[in-house]
Amino acid sequence: MIKSILDIDVSNKKVLVRVDFNVPIKNGEITSTTRVDEAKETINYLVSNNAKVILCSHLGRPDGKKDKKYSLKPVYEYLKQILSPTKVHFVADCIGDRVKTKADSLKAGEVLLLENLRFYAEEELNDVKFAKKLASLADIYVNDAFGTAHRKHASTYGVCEFLPSCCGFLIKKELDAFAHLDNPQRPFVAILGGAKIADKLAVTENLLNKVDALLIGGGMAYTFLKAQGKNIGTSIVSSEQLEFCKNVLTLAKEKGVKIVLPQDVVCAKDMKETNTIKTFNVNKIPADMGGFDIGRKTIKSFAKIIKKAKTVVWNGPLGVYEMKEYSTGTNEVVKLLAKNKNCYSIIGGGDVVSAIEKSGLQNKISHISTGGGASLKLIEGSTLAGISALSDKPKTSKTVAKKPTTKKTVATKKTTKKLETEKPKAVKKQEELALNKIKKEIKTAVNKASNSAAKKPEVKVPAKTTTITTKKVSTKKIVASQNTKVLKEINKKQEKLINSKKSK
Ligand code: AMP
Repeated sequence: MIKSILDIDVSNKKVLVRVDFNVPIKNGEITSTTRVDEAKETINYLVSNNAKVILCSHLGRPDGKKDKKYSLKPVYEYLKQILSPTKVHFVADCIGDRVKTKADSLKAGEVLLLENLRFYAEEELNDVKFAKKLASLADIYVNDAFGTAHRKHASTYGVCEFLPSCCGFLIKKELDAFAHLDNPQRPFVAILGGAKIADKLAVTENLLNKVDALLIGGGMAYTFLKAQGKNIGTSIVSSEQLEFCKNVLTLAKEKGVKIVLPQDVVCAKDMKETNTIKTFNVNKIPADMGGFDIGRKTIKSFAKIIKKAKTVVWNGPLGVYEMKEYSTGTNEVVKLLAKNKNCYSIIGGGDVVSAIEKSGLQNKISHISTGGGASLKLIEGSTLAGISALSDKPKTSKTVAKKPTTKKTVATKKTTKKLETEKPKAVKKQEELALNKIKKEIKTAVNKASNSAAKKPEVKVPAKTTTITTKKVSTKKIVASQNTKVLKEINKKQEKLINSKKSK
């Protein structure tokens, strides 16, 4: 059973807390403090219960090297302000003698922030020695970094082997929310969008075992549309996954799950060429144009289903929402969800979350998840490595006193089915690069839009829409294994049907 900090006596104990302080920093200034603010509840609880609090986090991707650009020092400055009058210390490393001395000298109710964990490559490699060194700083480990809870890193996974561990309030809140999906009120609807196509596709298969309807928009819709034989012009596509999409569509029919794809899409010659924007039926997308948002007809068909839904999970924007020209689909669906008062709604993934924050309707959503990848895993019914590792009985000898009075426990997730084969790193990297390219294009386009108000006409940038092809990497095997799995299920179904006919 996973415990929360409410179940453990923390008084006078050194408590190592894995937080998610991966905040955006520009010129040494934090541009969004949300993640630090969200960690406050757990920190304050520990401080007021006389714990000696040791905070650790990653920041950005320093690739295992010390790099000032990724220092957590600005977070330390901010923490001092928001935790005042609590005494907050900082140490410019996360393991070693200097850190140990600092941790040992902490007084009850004080806080120590360690330097970026990813200054050591060992962190992401889940190196045992590194995990042991981290653990040696404390008596108890608390994981409160939901965004990285699906990762098997030293600070999220390995450390649990050496310390009694539990989760903080942030993770508890997330698990409680996702527990609604164990026995969801029906109709249960999933909405998927965004541009990390392979990530989202991997989830669709498991989702078919759970949902009544699956609404697909955003960048991932075009691989499905192409799989149906439609011409998608220059829209984003994952060519390697066409067969997989075909099989998902067949399996959905078999299972009686409604998959709703766009009927019309908002297209342009290029994302930035907003003067070429026109909405087309998905059967008529011109060869030289790409789709960047769902159209009005699609919104209407989504609306019909969302209005009746009792449970909704949503991951990934339905268009390039960062540009107002392609934000209608995402914004309208936010409004529809906000209006449905009989529905438990969970939204995850940084992009949709920021779209909702822009709309000001966040209070009308039942739960806004702080983790994109982690929430995707929970949506499909998988367990998270960092959560399943939590235990009050680590393999090593340290044990921890339990609070006799509190009975609260955190709901654990049931695994419904084994997760699809993990994608190889090369594919992830390729997708990440493609997404970064899109983000860059969006940034240029948004800048262009704000500049053009002042000076026009603008220079035309002839950039092509990104096509994610995963050729020359070993994805084929994975897609093949995914396909085999899907086909096996179809065959099983057919066999059942034949047998039942025979017995009649
Ligand atoms: P994800 O991280 O997978 O949720 O992807 C989020 C990104 O998907 C956002 O930056 C969106 O601009 C992008 N996106 C959504 N729809 C499209 C589309 N039709 N074409 C290209 N990018 C898209």
